[in-house]
Amino acid sequence: MHDVIVVGAGPGGASAAIALAQRGIRDVLLLDRAAFPRDKTCGSGLSPNALVQADELGVGEELRARSTPIQSVKIVTPGGRSMVLASDGEALVMLRREFDEMLVRRATSLGVVLRENAKATALERHRGRVTGVRLEGGELLEAKMVFCADGAHSIFSPDQRPKRSISTLMGWWENAEFTPGQIEMIFDKNVSPLYGWLFPESPTRVNIGICIDGQDDSGEKTKRNVRQVFDTFLKDQFPGRLDKAEQIGRLKGHPIVYTNWVDHCTEPGAINLGEAARITHNATGEGISQAMETGIMAAEAAADVFHGRATEATAQRNYVWRLRKRFTAAFLSGHTLRAVIGSPILDGVAAAYGNPLVRKSVVRLFGSALAGSRVEETQAN
Ligand SMILES: Cc1cc2nc3c(=O)[nH]c(=O)nc-3n(C[C@H](O)[C@H](O)[C@H](O)COP(=O)(O)OP(=O)(O)OC[C@H]3O[C@@H](n4cnc5c(N)ncnc54)[C@H](O)[C@@H]3O)c2cc1C
Repeated sequence: MHDVIVVGAGPGGASAAIALAQRGIRDVLLLDRAAFPRDKTCGSGLSPNALVQADELGVGEELRARSTPIQSVKIVTPGGRSMVLASDGEALVMLRREFDEMLVRRATSLGVVLRENAKATALERHRGRVTGVRLEGGELLEAKMVFCADGAHSIFSPDQRPKRSISTLMGWWENAEFTPGQIEMIFDKNVSPLYGWLFPESPTRVNIGICIDGQDDSGEKTKRNVRQVFDTFLKDQFPGRLDKAEQIGRLKGHPIVYTNWVDHCTEPGAINLGEAARITHNATGEGISQAMETGIMAAEAAADVFHGRATEATAQRNYVWRLRKRFTAAFLSGHTLRAVIGSPILDGVAAAYGNPLVRKSVVRLFGSALAGSRVEETQAN
């Protein structure tokens, strides 16, 4: 019997596995249905908070050495004005294929056993308690505790609430016109109250994408054709900039699941984390740092149980309250950001961007989104 089985080796599951090993939990099995390195549809933007988590997990140095640093964020308003915020926190872009593999390798270097091409199909229960994981093919793996880190489409979440999600579509281009070290967040009126982006992944390659609400005001799945919205977005926002560029691979889409209140992410014997616990930013779609941080928090809860500091019920209760304390304010500020974007305020703000007080507010609202928060350079037009 394993101490902990972690289902899903994305940033959430791999971080949890590393953090368990760092806390002396010896027998950790990390499962993934894929084999690494594997692709993940993602902008691959890493916020300053992701860097904090990476340092905690012991991969900060390697991450800085291998990724593309971000020096500034260009914000484009629905009315076509733009503001450039310099980043003082560290923000990076590292292709998820490489980032996720780096985390997985760090886990195995600490003694975690990785099992690839292992698709979990069910949680095994005994008298209402999760006791293990059933794999495709029927094999049963038993554990004292199971972490569910199987992402947006989680089949193991005990959360029965309707899912709120963001729909996305993105692609990759070589030799597009872009400013090195600058990410672009484009608040185009057609994707409002969300945004489109350009993230530089290397000196020559960028990824460009959009996110739109996955449901309409009544909560029904959106009927908008995300491909059509993306085509219009590219035409309106990148005139001429992709003329000499070569598209790499095909466009890809994947939902981002979010919640406004953390709940139903534990059950006896099991803890959900990362996007399987719906913890992402509802306005920016950021989810990597949250997955890493919740992975570490889940490991701390498990360590409290294994080291006799708390009963499982207490450790799980503490885990849920820590998540609420940590993320609820960000969920609320995400909705404020959505309201601002969906109104004419953003254009007014851009027009008044020369005013230091206005600049300060802009930084507060957007700065923490993906690239730190110091205003140094101001360009508004
Ligand atoms: C288009 C797009 C752009 C994004 N851009 C950004 C960005 O720039 N910055 C940012 O911070 N966030 C971004 N996000 C969000 C981010 O990708 C996710 O929130 C993050 O990956 C969640 O991490 P996770 O570990 O919880 O889940 P995942 O990364 O989804 O990992 C889940 C893992 O579980 C495995 N798995 C699933 N089911 C099973 C099973 N049954 N058995 C075994 N293994 C299983 C999968 O193979 C996968 O490896 C973006 C998302 C999308 C869709």
